[in-house]
Amino acid sequence: MTTRAAIYVRISQDRGGAGLGIARQEEDCRALCARKGWEVFDLYADNDVSAYSGAARPKWQELLADINEGLVNAVVCWHVDRLTRSPRELEDVIDLADRQGLELATVSGEVDLATPTGRMIARMLGAAARHEAEHKAERQRRQRRQAAEAGKVAGGGKRPFGYEDDRATVRESEAENIREGARRVLAGESLSSICRDWRTREIVTAAGIPWKPSGLRRMLASARISGRREHTPRSSWEGTRPLLGEVVSDAVWPGIISHEDSDRLRALLSDPDRRTSMKGGSRTYLLSGILRCGKPTEVPNTACGWGLIGRPRSGVPRYVCPNLPGADSCGGTATNAQRTDDHVRDMVLTAFESPAFMKRLREPDGDGDEVYEKVQADEEELEELAADFGKQRISRKEWMVARAPIQERLERNRAKLAKVSSRAVLLGFVGSYEDMQDRWEKMNHSQRRAVISSAVRAVHVLPADPRKRWDPDRFVIDWIA
Ligand SMILES: [Zn+2]
Repeated sequence: MTTRAAIYVRISQDRGGAGLGIARQEEDCRALCARKGWEVFDLYADNDVSAYSGAARPKWQELLADINEGLVNAVVCWHVDRLTRSPRELEDVIDLADRQGLELATVSGEVDLATPTGRMIARMLGAAARHEAEHKAERQRRQRRQAAEAGKVAGGGKRPFGYEDDRATVRESEAENIREGARRVLAGESLSSICRDWRTREIVTAAGIPWKPSGLRRMLASARISGRREHTPRSSWEGTRPLLGEVVSDAVWPGIISHEDSDRLRALLSDPDRRTSMKGGSRTYLLSGILRCGKPTEVPNTACGWGLIGRPRSGVPRYVCPNLPGADSCGGTATNAQRTDDHVRDMVLTAFESPAFMKRLREPDGDGDEVYEKVQADEEELEELAADFGKQRISRKEWMVARAPIQERLERNRAKLAKVSSRAVLLGFVGSYEDMQDRWEKMNHSQRRAVISSAVRAVHVLPADPRKRWDPDRFVIDWIA
């Protein structure tokens, strides 16, 4: 008779460290089956966070049922402490071994439940593991209580930027940097532009090294800086940690920025459109991507529509409709870059000065707050689902099924929120024409682009009239408001 072995693996926190990740357990168990010439019937994997909390182990129940049915006549696990969590459970397994002739093999050593000595060893191993876990649980409880009483925060490693070594006291100088970074990103400035500025001001990370866009992005997208805890299941890392975990609770440490700003940052920084545009690197042409070729085509009432690109001629920067082989761009429009930039800037600043325009820009296009509320509602729902799963009110599968559509909607709304936010925050730039002109002069390229795109969807550039040197009427602005 072939031996059909069940591999039972369990991940828990009662024993951290190497060798006990589920994948490693499985690999070792499969190797053991191969050595013993056992056929692997199925893999049973339970994931209980706290081994001795008494939570049900669905796969364990399934395994017991399969043993009772006679489908399985051997169990392979990494260590006895993976298999059973209490002496009572171990006795159940020993009973099954008696009744069904169940064989047991563990990677960490031979345990033969058919012999009294083997059972004794199993009981001792189980007792030792239980003792260790109880001891550790008690130690952790004590530490957590002490930490809470002292207002401390769990976790080791380097202190996070913005906080002291106790990870809970705000370091005001860095907090100010965080608030500034958040404001600038929300206003549409690029991460690399901020990093460049911070490098010249010698603002460095907690580790004392200059800021890089990837690090700044992760820091500003973290829920930590808004005084909230974030949880990223390690199983979902796939090599690199995802940018956003789930916000699970208010933390004991104080926030440096508001929850709302944090949510907006998280939405903005995880927006895939933004990442693409960042890859474009530093643009030296203010309006590339904003200017569109307005030269009419043979089809009535249509224009070329291609995005003008920056291309100097005889050292003079110009925007031109690209003449690309194989593309249907007309290559027939060109305009002086400096004069175009100045003209569009003036148009935008003038528009900002107009109360009527600002009223339209301010007017919610329905969305702003509404989208924000939707995002929050979905985040709360995800939290509740996670709690239901944690308390075993729903199965893992039910949890996964229920969260999929919410997560999808959440992603969509986060993207929407990112777009609304970048405009809403720009309202802070607006002042009198002189004010704005002043501020404009001090802005870098990325900030200026942010200002323009907050008000302008596109600028259509009509072909030049050869009789005129400079003709502002060539520029038809497609205002957002
Ligand atoms: Zn064209």
